[in-house]
Amino acid sequence: MLLRIALRKKTSKLTAVTAAVALAIAPMSSALAQQNKGPPVIRDTEAEQLLRDYTRPVLRAAGLEKQNIQVVILNESVFNAFVADGRRIFVNYGAMMQSETPNQIIGVLAHETGHLAGGHLAKLREQLARAQTQMIIAMLLGVGGMVAGARSGNSNSGLANAGAAAVAGPQEMIRRTLISYQRQQEENADRAGVKFLTASGQSAKGMYETFNRFTDDSLFAARGADPYQQSHPMPAERVAALEELARSSPYWDKKDDPALQLRHDMVRSKISAFMERQDTVYRRYPLSNDSLPARYARAITTYLHGDLRSALVQIDGLIQVQPNNPYFYELRGQALLEGGKPAEAIAPLRKAVQLSNNAPLIDMLLGQALVGTNDKAHTEEAIAILRAAVARETEAPLGYTQLAMAYGRKGDFAQADLASAQAAFLRGDNKTARELASRAKTRFAIGTPGWVKADDIVAAKPTPGQNSN
Ligand SMILES: [Zn+2]
Repeated sequence: MLLRIALRKKTSKLTAVTAAVALAIAPMSSALAQQNKGPPVIRDTEAEQLLRDYTRPVLRAAGLEKQNIQVVILNESVFNAFVADGRRIFVNYGAMMQSETPNQIIGVLAHETGHLAGGHLAKLREQLARAQTQMIIAMLLGVGGMVAGARSGNSNSGLANAGAAAVAGPQEMIRRTLISYQRQQEENADRAGVKFLTASGQSAKGMYETFNRFTDDSLFAARGADPYQQSHPMPAERVAALEELARSSPYWDKKDDPALQLRHDMVRSKISAFMERQDTVYRRYPLSNDSLPARYARAITTYLHGDLRSALVQIDGLIQVQPNNPYFYELRGQALLEGGKPAEAIAPLRKAVQLSNNAPLIDMLLGQALVGTNDKAHTEEAIAILRAAVARETEAPLGYTQLAMAYGRKGDFAQADLASAQAAFLRGDNKTARELASRAKTRFAIGTPGWVKADDIVAAKPTPGQNSN
């Protein structure tokens, strides 16, 4: 299942902080674009599991394995990766698509982990706050100068001009200070990244290959608008230093494990199939390409474009090759569910749940199939599965949406309202969440667990700067 959902408000706010930092350093247009859109997130068990496997050894080497750091995939086709709040690494799906080997994207994740381990975001924020204070002081001094100049009765006096210069000068000076500070952080993150890779027995060649593509005089740089390019100035000397460091590792020539490369290629073909136009998918994965990733991409795009019967034949072919791959059963279930056959989706989804060790997003899909049958015999099981899923996966609204339907079918309108309120809250729709939670409160006995949860949502403060839809 590949879901596109809105990012929770908490994160949007933090992203705005990053945007504010970027605003001080990068050209304004990119920072504003980042702010206005509020990046939606892509959720998919297979891709997330792969990224967890990519980051685990690096985080361990960085001493961050206990911090519960997550990798979040953003719905953006351009190459980008960044840290925003000290506990999440954001990666655009474009960065996955453009990384031909696991080692290349692992290198980017190692670099971002270097920022996390160095606490760079907090330090940059501190630096920015200090710079802003300096700027305000400088402006006050500058304005004071102008006033003094005007009072002397001669607005062309040297004093007045000095005042104007004092206003313009510090901003440029501060901008330069921040840029050199940022450059230093980037070099530190490179060094830390290589260290983590070497400590975990991995090559930093992929990291070098990726950053080398972004050098200031490369084709990528010529395009100019690339956000990763803007946040990662890549002067030739930085890339040269990185190359030297990476080559000194005993693992420089170590190749990716073929099994990992296959998983990487499967996720890339899945992303392509879900995110790109069908003709693009067929251009990347023509019928002449008989590899598993190509067949995966074609099976997905076939179901997405309405040919369920042909898609099922193709998916069954995939299952024959890898009978224990949970994501093939998940795909079969999703295709049937979205093709209006929820009862038939139940068996493959049960198999996917079992093979994936109860992945909560797949549990939610199974819950959706059970609810979708309109058969009351499935209601209790659906509620049990969905409750367990939302307890482990706290940020996906789908579980609560389905839970609300299951409770509604049972006639438990208090729980149905509460689940709908929780779904709205996760979508960032605070207004609807509050309305539904208020109604839920009137249906629960005061002080019961359901009433308390509803009361929490009613009392939740709206996050400033967040739109309510
Ligand atoms: Zn960086």
